[in-house]
Amino acid sequence: MSAIFHAGISGARGRMGRAVSAVLDAREDVVVAARFDRGETPDVSLCDVIIDFSTAEASVELARTCAARGGPALVIGSTGLSPEQEGEILKASEKIAIVRSGNFSLGVNILIGLVQHAAQRLDAADWDIEIAEAHHRRKVDAPSGTALMLGEAAAEGRGQDLPDLRAAPWDGITGPRPVGKIGFSSVRAGGIVGEHTVMFASDDEVLTLSHSAIDRALFAKGAVAAAAWVRSRKPGLYDMQDVLGFRQ
Ligand code: NAP
Repeated sequence: MSAIFHAGISGARGRMGRAVSAVLDAREDVVVAARFDRGETPDVSLCDVIIDFSTAEASVELARTCAARGGPALVIGSTGLSPEQEGEILKASEKIAIVRSGNFSLGVNILIGLVQHAAQRLDAADWDIEIAEAHHRRKVDAPSGTALMLGEAAAEGRGQDLPDLRAAPWDGITGPRPVGKIGFSSVRAGGIVGEHTVMFASDDEVLTLSHSAIDRALFAKGAVAAAAWVRSRKPGLYDMQDVLGFRQ
């Protein structure tokens, strides 16, 4: 058995916090040393690593607190961060090790590689890319963090940055579709855990790559694997491609 480590859970009463708690409780190599939620000042000194699924603002605050004291390491799953907030996380990662991902599932991280591969080989002049996602009615940000990760992978496959390729939402009199742009669409309904589809469409054929999350325990398991991995890393900003060993 691997060495016992002390984990904290931020956003502990939330949907993901409860799923993380269940996964940690089932492991013999982890002690849950702290659970905190809105309005509570986290005693981060008790933890080797904190798993955080809260809000963009709370994640930035937590990263600042941990960076200021040189630890603990963080696993950040909150989505909907602004570019400024992403900059704050990057700054904190100069002092502590952070794994940040919009999606902790193995399947989605494999999908990212497939999307990059397809985008690289399918000529932008002939193949349009559309990314569609669906989530439960309580989700507050759109497109989802995962949809944006898939968009970044597609843009990278085409040798460009997503902000240069991201299409404005199709709404009203849009005119013809601009060549080479990547479109996004979102559905918010019921209790859907997470559906993502990347469509490559030419005049003659359509290639569709998709992923369905069946139970949010899947994200919790990935985040706990990331916590076990990151607690002994040197400061830096990592993602699930690092944790899964996809990036050598
Ligand atoms: P949720 O049920 O609303 O849970 C969020 C929790 O964070 C709530 O308990 C909330 O408390 C708490 N919180 C708010 N401010 C806080 C603070 N300052 N410090 C500590 N906790 C605070 O949402 P969820 O479905 O669990 O999702 C949480 C985040 O994870 C979202 O950004 C979501 O998009 C993301 N997510 C990521 C993945 C992934 O794989 N990366 C997967 C699923 C979800 P209150 O209710 O009192 O505000």
